[in-house]
Amino acid sequence: MEKKTFVTLEQLKEIEKEYPTPYHLYDEKGIRENALRLKDAFSWNKGFKEYFAVKATPNPFILKLLQECGCGVDCSSLTELMMSDKLGFHGDDIMFSSNDTPAEEFLLARKLEAQINLDDYTHIDFLNQTCGIPETICCRFNPGGVFKISTSIMDNPGDAKYGFTKSQMIEGYQRLKELGAKRFGIHSFLASNTVTNEYYPTLARILFETIVEIKEQTGVEISFVNLSGGIGIPYRPDQEPNDIYKIAEGVKKAYEEILVPAGMEVAIYTELGRYMLGPYGCLVTKAIHEKHIHKEYIGVDACAVNLMRPAMYGAYHHITVMGKEQEPCDHKYDITGSLCENNDKFAVDRMLPKIDTGDFIVIHDTGAHGFAMGYNYNGKLKSAELLLKEDGSVQMIRRAETPEDYFATFDFTDIFK
Ligand SMILES: *Cc1c(COP(=O)(O)O)cnc(C)c1O
Repeated sequence: MEKKTFVTLEQLKEIEKEYPTPYHLYDEKGIRENALRLKDAFSWNKGFKEYFAVKATPNPFILKLLQECGCGVDCSSLTELMMSDKLGFHGDDIMFSSNDTPAEEFLLARKLEAQINLDDYTHIDFLNQTCGIPETICCRFNPGGVFKISTSIMDNPGDAKYGFTKSQMIEGYQRLKELGAKRFGIHSFLASNTVTNEYYPTLARILFETIVEIKEQTGVEISFVNLSGGIGIPYRPDQEPNDIYKIAEGVKKAYEEILVPAGMEVAIYTELGRYMLGPYGCLVTKAIHEKHIHKEYIGVDACAVNLMRPAMYGAYHHITVMGKEQEPCDHKYDITGSLCENNDKFAVDRMLPKIDTGDFIVIHDTGAHGFAMGYNYNGKLKSAELLLKEDGSVQMIRRAETPEDYFATFDFTDIFK
């Protein structure tokens, strides 16, 4: 399938009058429509709620949009909690799904009356000593072994640092009950970026069976099942996108087969990040150099600090050379950034139309885990984030870093005054 950009070359030329490349651009219309589709797909479940994984796109303007679509937030750090608090998320609007959690983060989560999702059995006593056990509490389950969907291995929970074992879950809920907890949840995250409609239904089946067992063994009734993140997006043009309606139907079927006969009723929660934002953001950059040595290189004005996934995971991100969508892909290029690191390449041996210096290059699907993973290696500065609004106008939602920002942590000395 052809991957289309949500922005046109004419719009990019217009944006350039005010904002230089590189920048991340987000699509308000796409974000809203997708969030409402998710809500609609799961409307069969009374308590359904999506808690957007803030780490994917930690921008207050984006969180606000999702808030307007009925989403809560999934936080896992102090600053994510602080940002959410500023935007008016409170209590049941916040899921705090952290791990290796410092005491100060539990304290803030408790103060905001967030729903705390514990990552470990020992955190029960740690939380109790830090700030007491709240009425609502959730535990993260790690079944161990390998996680399969029919016969294919999706991931390896046995090697993952997260969650409680089954026997720890059984003991954990009993202990939490003794310590005063009244409303319980279960959470699990077993595979990332799944491009299959079977992930959530398979996970739901495991969790539903587990909570039936927990009820039988402990008498503790689970009120919500948090399927967490992991629904993926088709980064490659040949991938079939997930169908959220089929996914929600699959979860419903598991619910009807396992929970209904057991006389149990739960709310379904999700903590999607990539699925909510990934396709609705892109990195806009320009070709600034072409280099002909042993291979053909195009140097762009963005680099891995703006988008780390290709360098870190060898991840594929589709590239469109704007204005040349109909031209033949008869040139083989490495598209590179300027870091003094040879893995600073957005694409390797990619077949693309002939690129000229000055061409706008759009790197697709950077809306989640894109800007957010940015860093400052080589003293490179982070880019701006812009929002393409539903009316076609553009709003700056984060300014680009300046050298002053970069030097700000030396403000205790006067070297940079
Ligand atoms: C990262 C993360 C998510 C979001 O994952 P996606 O793959 O972006 O959907 C949700 N929950 C937790 C606890 C996470 O760590």
